[in-house]
Amino acid sequence: MTQATTANHQLSAAPHVIVIGAGFAGLNTVKALVKGQFRVTLIDRNLYSTFQPLLYQVATGGLNPGDVSYAIGGYTRKYGARYCRGMLTGIDAAARRITLHDGRELSYDYLVLATGVSASHFGIKGAEQFTYGLYTRRDAVTLRDRFLADVEKLSEGPAGAQLAITMVGGGATGVELGGTIAELRDTVLRETFPDVDSSRIHVRLVEMQSELLTPFDPKLRAYTRRQLVRRGVDVQLDTAIAEVTPDRVILKDGRDLHSDITVWTAGVAAPPEAEQWGLPQGHAGRIETGPDLRVTGQDRIFAVGDIGLVTDHPTPQLSQPAIQMGRFAAGQIKRLEAGQPTETFHYHDKGQAATIGRRSAVIELAHGPDFTGTLAWLGWLALHLVYLLGGRNRVSAIVNLAWRYLTWGHGGTVIVGDEPTADAPPEPAAFRPGAQRGSPSQSITGRDGPAGRPNAGAQDGSAEPPPGAATDGPAGRPHQAAPAQAGPSS
Ligand SMILES: Cc1cc2nc3c(=O)[nH]c(=O)nc-3n(C[C@H](O)[C@H](O)[C@H](O)COP(=O)(O)OP(=O)(O)OC[C@H]3O[C@@H](n4cnc5c(N)ncnc54)[C@H](O)[C@@H]3O)c2cc1C
Repeated sequence: MTQATTANHQLSAAPHVIVIGAGFAGLNTVKALVKGQFRVTLIDRNLYSTFQPLLYQVATGGLNPGDVSYAIGGYTRKYGARYCRGMLTGIDAAARRITLHDGRELSYDYLVLATGVSASHFGIKGAEQFTYGLYTRRDAVTLRDRFLADVEKLSEGPAGAQLAITMVGGGATGVELGGTIAELRDTVLRETFPDVDSSRIHVRLVEMQSELLTPFDPKLRAYTRRQLVRRGVDVQLDTAIAEVTPDRVILKDGRDLHSDITVWTAGVAAPPEAEQWGLPQGHAGRIETGPDLRVTGQDRIFAVGDIGLVTDHPTPQLSQPAIQMGRFAAGQIKRLEAGQPTETFHYHDKGQAATIGRRSAVIELAHGPDFTGTLAWLGWLALHLVYLLGGRNRVSAIVNLAWRYLTWGHGGTVIVGDEPTADAPPEPAAFRPGAQRGSPSQSITGRDGPAGRPNAGAQDGSAEPPPGAATDGPAGRPHQAAPAQAGPSS
């Protein structure tokens, strides 16, 4: 166990709060809790917290993976909490005990689940095996390496060879990735691979609904589509996917499209391991809670952020609700300890935003005007940079993004990685069930495929996406300008 000995933990008689997950929700819970008299342990399967809103920049070679990751141990030390690396596998609510992937058991007085969600493939045949995701740092690096290696192959391969990349899902993630890849093709890659004619790289965005960014105002949706088309993205609306193969997407209308790289940006659900926790699960497997964010039927377990589903008033799966829920849960724990009744969580909606490419974004304020174009783009960028966790990350991200957008293909190049190898291990070996350190076996989530390959360890299925599925995840998900993860500015 990696841990910092802190004054907080010397309060051995103080109630012990375990927070699972160091994302927006978990970090904000910890920050709000340590001001009280609690022993706080933050557990995450990774050593770092990931700033998901900028993952698309890592996937397109604009940022380094380290720019969007922040060491959790440094964060917990700053706030007097303890960090423990591990993956939650079991909860014994009656005994107030959790079990980690390696059999370790920890007792708690209060438990806060803040594990986030992962991709949902809706049982579409081949989607889990043959598509790339964009949820983790590893996903972003894997996608970047595959894309750049394929472009390089174009420069070496036969003159007529083509590369097709398909984004499945027209929500914010699909839009920002599609727009940025198209820009990359026409600017930076032209400089980096001058012998590859950019018309040989086909960028496609497929959405089953009739509009992109469905939660936004119709005029912002229309603007988004125009901007993507202007960048040369082949936008296909009202287009549902029936099957994905290693080099094709097969549509429900019978069409069959060549796709070397297919990226799944179409929906999210609770990770499969949530089923082992023995807690009530609602739509897309999210853990059901009451209005005070306590898990239904539990008096000491909270579920916050993307994983929590307030049954009466579901919140969008965005950073701002996650932050507010994390802080709120901390407040309720303090109230319970003080013998006070819990309160009702109210989400304060500040608005939503999405970026399309250089000098193009949409911002819709909850109680104000809409913005598009350069102003919106600068606002989106500034907010994300200001709120990125850690001063060092902020400086490196500013330098890298300034290089990308100011040089704009003239002397600028992409951040490159390694050519993907088929046998690279998918996850830290320590977290693979039943595995010894270093032994290659199945990924813990079944989601992070070996570097250079799409997601591995999947099952085929034939179920249809549930109605409205495209609005449940990154597709159709409005992206708020991501606010602070309560980060220190070290
Ligand atoms: C590509 C992308 C772009 C996005 N852009 C935006 C945006 O612009 N604006 C916006 O508002 N929102 C955006 N979002 C959504 C936003 O990132 C999420 O809503 C937010 O991260 C949810 O926070 P969370 O704390 O609930 O979960 P996460 O931030 O996902 O954190 C969960 C943490 O739990 C850990 N974990 C998971 N399972 C376990 C386990 N069993 N045991 C231990 N640890 C575990 C994970 O490692 C992770 O650190 C984006 C999401 C993605 C994927």
